Amino acid sequence: MLLQSRYLIIALCFFASSANATRSPFELAGNSIPAGQKRSFFASVADTDMQIPITVFHGVKAGSVLTLSAGTHGDEFPAITALQRLRSEIDLTALKGTLILVHAANLPALHQYGLSALHPGDNKNLNREFPGNANGSDTERLAHFLTREIVDRSDYFADLHSGSAYQQLWPHIYAPFVGDEALDARTLAWAKASGMRHVILYGDRPRDPANSISYPNTAMTRGKPGLTLEIGDRGHNEEEDVLTYLDALRRLIAGIDMLPTTLPASEGQVIYKHLVDVETPVTGIFEPHCKIGELVNAGALLGIVRDYFGETIAELRAPNRGVVLMLRHAPPVNKGAGLISIGIE
Ligand SMILES: [Zn+2]
Repeated sequence: MLLQSRYLIIALCFFASSANATRSPFELAGNSIPAGQKRSFFASVADTDMQIPITVFHGVKAGSVLTLSAGTHGDEFPAITALQRLRSEIDLTALKGTLILVHAANLPALHQYGLSALHPGDNKNLNREFPGNANGSDTERLAHFLTREIVDRSDYFADLHSGSAYQQLWPHIYAPFVGDEALDARTLAWAKASGMRHVILYGDRPRDPANSISYPNTAMTRGKPGLTLEIGDRGHNEEEDVLTYLDALRRLIAGIDMLPTTLPASEGQVIYKHLVDVETPVTGIFEPHCKIGELVNAGALLGIVRDYFGETIAELRAPNRGVVLMLRHAPPVNKGAGLISIGIE
Protein backbone atom coordinates (compact mmCIF):
# COMPACT_ATOMS: atom_id res chain seq x y z
CA MET A 1 0.00 0.00 0.00
CA LEU A 2 2.80 2.30 1.03
CA LEU A 3 4.68 1.34 -2.11
CA GLN A 4 1.61 2.03 -4.27
CA SER A 5 1.07 5.52 -2.84
CA ARG A 6 4.74 6.33 -3.38
CA TYR A 7 4.24 5.42 -7.07
CA LEU A 8 1.14 7.58 -7.09
CA ILE A 9 3.12 10.56 -5.77
CA ILE A 10 5.83 10.00 -8.37
CA ALA A 11 3.17 9.77 -11.09
CA LEU A 12 1.51 12.98 -9.88
CA CYS A 13 4.87 14.77 -9.84
CA PHE A 14 5.49 13.59 -13.41
CA PHE A 15 2.16 14.97 -14.63
CA ALA A 16 2.67 18.24 -12.73
CA SER A 17 6.11 18.79 -14.25
CA SER A 18 5.03 17.79 -17.78
CA ALA A 19 2.30 20.44 -17.64
CA ASN A 20 5.07 23.07 -17.36
CA ALA A 21 7.47 21.18 -19.62
CA THR A 22 9.39 22.96 -22.35
CA ARG A 23 8.25 22.51 -25.92
CA SER A 24 9.59 19.66 -28.00
CA PRO A 25 12.74 20.36 -29.99
CA PHE A 26 12.26 21.59 -33.55
CA GLU A 27 13.65 19.12 -36.08
CA LEU A 28 14.95 20.41 -39.39
CA ALA A 29 17.14 18.65 -41.95
CA GLY A 30 18.66 16.31 -39.36
CA ASN A 31 19.16 19.07 -36.76
CA SER A 32 17.35 19.13 -33.44
CA ILE A 33 16.91 22.59 -31.89
CA PRO A 34 15.76 22.61 -28.24
CA ALA A 35 13.18 25.19 -27.14
CA GLY A 36 14.81 28.46 -26.15
CA GLN A 37 17.81 27.94 -28.43
CA LYS A 38 19.23 29.16 -31.71
CA ARG A 39 21.18 26.98 -34.16
CA SER A 40 23.02 27.94 -37.34
CA PHE A 41 24.02 25.08 -39.64
CA PHE A 42 24.45 23.97 -43.23
CA ALA A 43 21.71 21.68 -44.49
CA SER A 44 22.75 19.25 -47.22
CA VAL A 45 20.61 18.61 -50.28
CA ALA A 46 20.48 14.81 -50.65
CA ASP A 47 22.71 13.20 -53.31
CA THR A 48 24.30 16.53 -54.30
CA ASP A 49 27.16 18.65 -52.97
CA MET A 50 24.79 21.57 -52.39
CA GLN A 51 24.43 23.09 -48.93
CA ILE A 52 22.10 25.72 -47.54
CA PRO A 53 23.02 28.00 -44.59
CA ILE A 54 20.09 28.11 -42.17
CA THR A 55 19.46 29.56 -38.72
CA VAL A 56 16.58 28.34 -36.55
CA PHE A 57 15.32 30.21 -33.48
CA HIS A 58 13.05 27.90 -31.50
CA GLY A 59 11.13 29.97 -28.96
CA VAL A 60 10.16 28.75 -25.51
CA LYS A 61 6.62 29.93 -26.11
CA ALA A 62 4.23 28.37 -28.62
CA GLY A 63 3.48 30.23 -31.85
CA SER A 64 3.76 30.07 -35.61
CA VAL A 65 6.63 28.70 -37.68
CA LEU A 66 7.84 31.49 -39.96
CA THR A 67 10.46 31.18 -42.70
CA LEU A 68 12.26 34.18 -44.18
CA SER A 69 14.26 33.04 -47.20
CA ALA A 70 16.89 35.05 -49.10
CA GLY A 71 19.05 34.32 -52.14
CA THR A 72 16.62 32.40 -54.35
CA HIS A 73 18.31 34.29 -57.18
CA GLY A 74 22.11 34.57 -57.29
CA ASP A 75 22.27 38.29 -58.09
CA GLU A 76 20.11 39.74 -55.30
CA PHE A 77 21.88 40.73 -52.08
CA PRO A 78 20.18 43.16 -49.65
CA ALA A 79 18.03 40.44 -48.05
CA ILE A 80 21.12 38.29 -47.37
CA THR A 81 22.67 41.16 -45.38
CA ALA A 82 19.34 41.94 -43.70
CA LEU A 83 19.03 38.32 -42.47
CA GLN A 84 22.62 38.40 -41.11
CA ARG A 85 21.66 41.41 -39.00
CA LEU A 86 18.25 40.06 -38.03
CA ARG A 87 19.99 36.94 -36.71
CA SER A 88 21.84 39.02 -34.12
CA GLU A 89 18.80 40.89 -32.82
CA ILE A 90 16.14 38.22 -32.27
CA ASP A 91 15.19 38.01 -28.57
CA LEU A 92 14.72 34.28 -27.95
CA THR A 93 13.22 34.86 -24.52
CA ALA A 94 10.38 36.88 -26.06
CA LEU A 95 9.94 34.82 -29.24
CA LYS A 96 6.67 32.96 -29.69
CA GLY A 97 6.99 30.09 -32.14
CA THR A 98 9.88 29.23 -34.44
CA LEU A 99 11.75 31.49 -36.83
CA ILE A 100 13.70 29.93 -39.71
CA LEU A 101 16.19 32.09 -41.63
CA VAL A 102 17.33 30.64 -44.96
CA HIS A 103 20.35 32.89 -45.42
CA ALA A 104 21.04 31.96 -49.05
CA ALA A 105 18.79 29.39 -50.73
CA ASN A 106 20.88 29.05 -53.89
CA LEU A 107 24.60 29.19 -53.03
CA PRO A 108 25.81 27.89 -56.44
CA ALA A 109 23.96 30.77 -58.16
CA LEU A 110 25.31 33.30 -55.63
CA HIS A 111 28.93 32.29 -56.10
CA GLN A 112 29.07 33.18 -59.75
CA TYR A 113 30.15 36.55 -58.32
CA GLY A 114 26.48 37.54 -58.30
CA LEU A 115 26.43 37.79 -62.10
CA SER A 116 23.46 35.51 -62.68
CA ALA A 117 20.12 34.72 -61.06
CA LEU A 118 20.34 31.13 -62.32
CA HIS A 119 21.96 27.96 -61.00
CA PRO A 120 25.19 27.39 -62.98
CA GLY A 121 24.77 23.59 -63.06
CA ASP A 122 21.59 23.47 -65.14
CA ASN A 123 20.95 27.16 -65.95
CA LYS A 124 17.53 26.96 -64.34
CA ASN A 125 15.58 29.59 -62.41
CA LEU A 126 14.96 28.16 -58.92
CA ASN A 127 11.79 30.25 -58.63
CA ARG A 128 10.26 28.37 -61.59
CA GLU A 129 11.08 24.78 -60.56
CA PHE A 130 8.85 24.16 -57.53
CA PRO A 131 7.86 21.85 -55.96
CA GLY A 132 10.98 20.24 -57.46
CA ASN A 133 12.08 16.68 -57.99
CA ALA A 134 14.29 14.53 -55.73
CA ASN A 135 15.75 12.81 -58.82
CA GLY A 136 15.95 15.84 -61.11
CA SER A 137 18.62 18.38 -62.01
CA ASP A 138 20.42 20.39 -59.31
CA THR A 139 17.83 23.19 -59.27
CA GLU A 140 14.96 20.68 -59.17
CA ARG A 141 16.61 18.90 -56.21
CA LEU A 142 17.12 22.21 -54.45
CA ALA A 143 13.43 23.08 -54.97
CA HIS A 144 12.45 19.64 -53.66
CA PHE A 145 14.54 20.16 -50.51
CA LEU A 146 13.07 23.62 -49.91
CA THR A 147 9.53 22.31 -50.41
CA ARG A 148 9.93 19.39 -48.00
CA GLU A 149 12.19 20.87 -45.33
CA ILE A 150 11.24 24.53 -45.38
CA VAL A 151 7.77 25.21 -46.87
CA ASP A 152 6.18 22.03 -45.47
CA ARG A 153 7.53 22.90 -42.00
CA SER A 154 6.38 26.53 -42.04
CA ASP A 155 3.06 28.20 -41.26
CA TYR A 156 4.11 31.47 -42.90
CA PHE A 157 6.64 32.04 -45.65
CA ALA A 158 8.33 35.06 -47.24
CA ASP A 159 10.71 34.95 -50.22
CA LEU A 160 13.07 37.92 -50.23
CA HIS A 161 14.12 39.31 -53.62
CA SER A 162 15.71 42.40 -55.18
CA GLY A 163 16.25 43.81 -58.64
CA SER A 164 19.11 42.22 -60.57
CA ALA A 165 21.94 44.10 -62.29
CA TYR A 166 19.78 45.18 -65.23
CA GLN A 167 16.69 46.06 -63.22
CA GLN A 168 15.54 49.13 -61.29
CA LEU A 169 12.82 48.51 -58.70
CA TRP A 170 10.49 50.54 -56.55
CA PRO A 171 10.19 48.58 -53.27
CA HIS A 172 7.03 46.47 -53.29
CA ILE A 173 5.45 43.34 -51.86
CA TYR A 174 3.32 40.73 -53.64
CA ALA A 175 0.24 39.43 -51.83
CA PRO A 176 -0.85 36.43 -53.91
CA PHE A 177 -4.37 35.08 -53.97
CA VAL A 178 -5.41 31.53 -54.88
CA GLY A 179 -9.21 31.59 -54.52
CA ASP A 180 -9.24 30.42 -50.88
CA GLU A 181 -11.06 33.34 -49.22
CA ALA A 182 -9.69 32.83 -45.71
CA LEU A 183 -6.11 32.20 -46.85
CA ASP A 184 -6.18 35.10 -49.31
CA ALA A 185 -7.45 37.51 -46.62
CA ARG A 186 -4.83 36.31 -44.13
CA THR A 187 -2.11 36.70 -46.77
CA LEU A 188 -3.14 40.25 -47.67
CA ALA A 189 -3.39 41.26 -44.01
CA TRP A 190 0.12 39.92 -43.41
CA ALA A 191 1.47 41.69 -46.52
CA LYS A 192 0.00 44.96 -45.21
CA ALA A 193 1.60 44.29 -41.83
CA SER A 194 5.01 44.53 -43.57
CA GLY A 195 4.46 48.29 -43.64
CA MET A 196 5.61 48.39 -47.26
CA ARG A 197 3.87 51.15 -49.16
CA HIS A 198 3.25 49.35 -52.46
CA VAL A 199 1.26 46.11 -52.18
CA ILE A 200 0.47 44.14 -55.34
CA LEU A 201 -2.34 41.60 -55.51
CA TYR A 202 -1.21 38.67 -57.59
CA GLY A 203 -3.33 35.78 -58.82
CA ASP A 204 -1.51 34.56 -61.92
CA ARG A 205 0.24 31.54 -60.44
CA PRO A 206 -0.99 27.92 -60.74
CA ARG A 207 -3.34 26.58 -58.07
CA ASP A 208 -2.01 23.01 -58.24
CA PRO A 209 0.37 22.08 -55.38
CA ALA A 210 2.02 19.46 -57.63
CA ASN A 211 2.87 22.22 -60.13
CA SER A 212 3.34 25.24 -57.88
CA ILE A 213 6.20 26.74 -60.00
CA SER A 214 7.41 29.45 -57.58
CA TYR A 215 8.73 29.22 -54.02
CA PRO A 216 6.00 31.41 -52.39
CA ASN A 217 3.29 29.77 -54.50
CA THR A 218 4.43 26.44 -53.07
CA ALA A 219 3.36 27.84 -49.70
CA MET A 220 0.08 29.28 -51.02
CA THR A 221 -0.94 26.03 -52.74
CA ARG A 222 -0.32 24.26 -49.41
CA GLY A 223 -2.64 26.59 -47.51
CA LYS A 224 0.03 28.90 -46.04
CA PRO A 225 0.53 32.63 -46.66
CA GLY A 226 3.49 33.04 -49.05
CA LEU A 227 4.74 36.55 -49.79
CA THR A 228 7.38 37.94 -52.15
CA LEU A 229 9.25 41.09 -51.18
CA GLU A 230 11.23 43.15 -53.70
CA ILE A 231 13.61 45.69 -52.14
CA GLY A 232 16.87 47.03 -53.62
CA ASP A 233 18.02 46.87 -57.22
CA ARG A 234 20.69 46.98 -59.93
CA GLY A 235 22.59 44.13 -58.30
CA HIS A 236 23.68 46.51 -55.50
CA ASN A 237 23.69 46.03 -51.75
CA GLU A 238 22.88 49.55 -50.56
CA GLU A 239 22.65 50.25 -46.82
CA GLU A 240 19.35 52.06 -47.35
CA ASP A 241 17.83 48.93 -48.93
CA VAL A 242 19.16 46.67 -46.16
CA LEU A 243 17.50 48.97 -43.59
CA THR A 244 14.24 48.98 -45.56
CA TYR A 245 14.39 45.18 -45.58
CA LEU A 246 15.02 44.99 -41.84
CA ASP A 247 12.05 47.26 -41.13
CA ALA A 248 9.73 45.10 -43.26
CA LEU A 249 11.01 41.83 -41.73
CA ARG A 250 10.61 43.08 -38.13
CA ARG A 251 7.04 44.07 -38.99
CA LEU A 252 6.28 40.71 -40.64
CA ILE A 253 7.48 38.92 -37.49
CA ALA A 254 5.44 41.21 -35.22
CA GLY A 255 2.48 41.01 -37.62
CA ILE A 256 1.90 37.37 -36.73
CA ASP A 257 2.49 38.00 -33.04
CA MET A 258 5.87 36.25 -32.79
CA LEU A 259 7.62 39.22 -31.17
CA PRO A 260 6.33 42.42 -29.58
CA THR A 261 6.96 45.65 -31.48
CA THR A 262 7.18 49.34 -30.78
CA LEU A 263 7.36 50.29 -34.47
CA PRO A 264 4.85 53.01 -35.37
CA ALA A 265 1.94 51.95 -37.60
CA SER A 266 2.57 52.51 -41.29
CA GLU A 267 0.28 54.74 -43.29
CA GLY A 268 -0.65 55.43 -46.88
CA GLN A 269 -0.38 51.95 -48.34
CA VAL A 270 -1.37 51.56 -51.99
CA ILE A 271 -2.95 48.30 -53.14
CA TYR A 272 -2.44 47.49 -56.83
CA LYS A 273 -4.95 45.19 -58.49
CA HIS A 274 -2.79 44.58 -61.57
CA LEU A 275 0.80 44.68 -62.68
CA VAL A 276 1.14 45.27 -66.43
CA ASP A 277 4.36 44.52 -68.31
CA VAL A 278 5.19 46.77 -71.24
CA GLU A 279 7.15 44.69 -73.76
CA THR A 280 9.31 45.80 -76.66
CA PRO A 281 8.04 44.71 -80.09
CA VAL A 282 11.58 44.93 -81.53
CA THR A 283 15.21 44.12 -80.70
CA GLY A 284 17.43 47.17 -80.24
CA ILE A 285 18.78 49.76 -77.82
CA PHE A 286 16.36 50.93 -75.10
CA GLU A 287 16.15 54.52 -73.88
CA PRO A 288 13.79 55.04 -70.90
CA HIS A 289 11.61 58.16 -70.77
CA CYS A 290 10.10 57.51 -67.38
CA LYS A 291 11.51 57.22 -63.87
CA ILE A 292 11.17 54.47 -61.31
CA GLY A 293 8.30 55.28 -58.92
CA GLU A 294 6.75 57.79 -61.34
CA LEU A 295 2.97 58.03 -61.70
CA VAL A 296 2.23 57.96 -65.45
CA ASN A 297 -1.00 58.52 -67.35
CA ALA A 298 -2.44 56.17 -69.98
CA GLY A 299 -0.70 56.84 -73.29
CA ALA A 300 2.37 58.49 -71.71
CA LEU A 301 5.66 57.84 -73.50
CA LEU A 302 7.63 55.43 -71.29
CA GLY A 303 10.61 54.82 -73.55
CA ILE A 304 11.84 54.33 -77.06
CA VAL A 305 13.83 51.59 -78.75
CA ARG A 306 16.38 52.68 -81.36
CA ASP A 307 18.21 50.64 -83.96
CA TYR A 308 22.01 50.51 -83.82
CA PHE A 309 22.23 53.66 -85.97
CA GLY A 310 20.08 55.69 -83.57
CA GLU A 311 16.81 55.73 -85.48
CA THR A 312 13.62 55.22 -83.42
CA ILE A 313 12.05 51.86 -84.26
CA ALA A 314 9.49 51.59 -81.42
CA GLU A 315 7.74 53.83 -78.91
CA LEU A 316 6.57 52.28 -75.67
CA ARG A 317 3.48 53.87 -74.10
CA ALA A 318 1.61 53.30 -70.85
CA PRO A 319 -1.46 51.10 -71.41
CA ASN A 320 -3.05 52.45 -68.21
CA ARG A 321 -2.52 55.09 -65.57
CA GLY A 322 -0.21 53.68 -62.91
CA VAL A 323 3.10 53.70 -61.07
CA VAL A 324 6.38 52.53 -62.63
CA LEU A 325 7.44 49.71 -60.29
CA MET A 326 10.10 48.05 -62.47
CA LEU A 327 12.31 49.45 -65.21
CA ARG A 328 14.90 47.82 -67.43
CA HIS A 329 18.23 49.37 -66.50
CA ALA A 330 20.48 48.19 -69.37
CA PRO A 331 20.17 49.41 -72.99
CA PRO A 332 20.26 46.20 -75.09
CA VAL A 333 16.80 44.61 -75.37
CA ASN A 334 15.41 41.61 -77.23
CA LYS A 335 12.04 41.52 -78.96
CA GLY A 336 9.29 40.49 -76.53
CA ALA A 337 11.19 41.39 -73.34
CA GLY A 338 9.24 43.18 -70.60
CA LEU A 339 11.00 46.52 -70.08
CA ILE A 340 8.65 48.36 -67.74
CA SER A 341 6.11 47.16 -65.16
CA ILE A 342 3.23 49.44 -64.22
CA GLY A 343 1.24 48.92 -61.04
CA ILE A 344 -2.43 49.75 -61.52
CA GLU A 345 -4.69 50.56 -58.56
ZN1 LIG B 1 14.64 37.48 -57.61
